[in-house]
Amino acid sequence: MDTNENGVSMDAEHFSVAEALERIQGAVAQACAKAGRSVGEVTIIGVTKTHGPEVVREAVEAGLRVFGENKVQEAAAKIPGCVGGPEWHLIGHLQRNKVRHALALFPVIHSLDSLRLAEQMERVAEEDGHRPRVLLEINVSGEASKDGLHPERAPEVIDYLMASRNLTWTGLMTLAPFCPDPEQARPVFARLRELRDRWEREYGVGLPDLSMGMSNDYPIAVEEGATWLRLGTALFGNRPKWRPMAVDEE
Ligand SMILES: *Cc1c(COP(=O)(O)O)cnc(C)c1O
Repeated sequence: MDTNENGVSMDAEHFSVAEALERIQGAVAQACAKAGRSVGEVTIIGVTKTHGPEVVREAVEAGLRVFGENKVQEAAAKIPGCVGGPEWHLIGHLQRNKVRHALALFPVIHSLDSLRLAEQMERVAEEDGHRPRVLLEINVSGEASKDGLHPERAPEVIDYLMASRNLTWTGLMTLAPFCPDPEQARPVFARLRELRDRWEREYGVGLPDLSMGMSNDYPIAVEEGATWLRLGTALFGNRPKWRPMAVDEE
């Protein structure tokens, strides 16, 4: 059986979401205490990609209320089968031809990463009567990953969002590069928080949402100010190799 460093089974079949959630809440509370923050500032998003509705049900029963998916088609197939009325966030890259579908499913989009995408979202939101909350996805570390907007290119998107009627810009998201030592992600999280503080001042807006931290590094992200943790493996065990909802790669 596949176990993690705490001797906990990471095998989906033997995995208890309730126990995992309790452990994670403990680690979040500890990180909050260390940073002088209140636990109420931090919301755990259960990232259920590749898992089926039965996993969502188990998590809802354990007390989780917010879920994240990274692909529109997979979410569209899954969400109708999920009970308990959780809130769904899109956390993965969004293609412009999937915006209409995405806005119908997700009240919060973490992955706005270009001006053209913002323009398409504004157009569709106006037509379909949606008022999504959006986060700018920033590529803080610059190198390796191609996800997210370079900080220097953000102002043109921010100017657009400031003038937008239908999109509400509430914060920033980043994906830290995977490092065996989570401490290495700390400068990335700190930099995202600094960008948030700077743009709040420059644009005179409140940006309460900082979506950063995944299974490997979330306590560090909390210490650096995260308000939304996107947790998959830590909550649900290893992802199944096969996809319960067969979908094309987007
Ligand atoms: C899959 C995914 C996560 C969760 O990853 P884990 O390491 O399993 O916690 C978080 N954010 C995004 C954008 C993802 O695609």
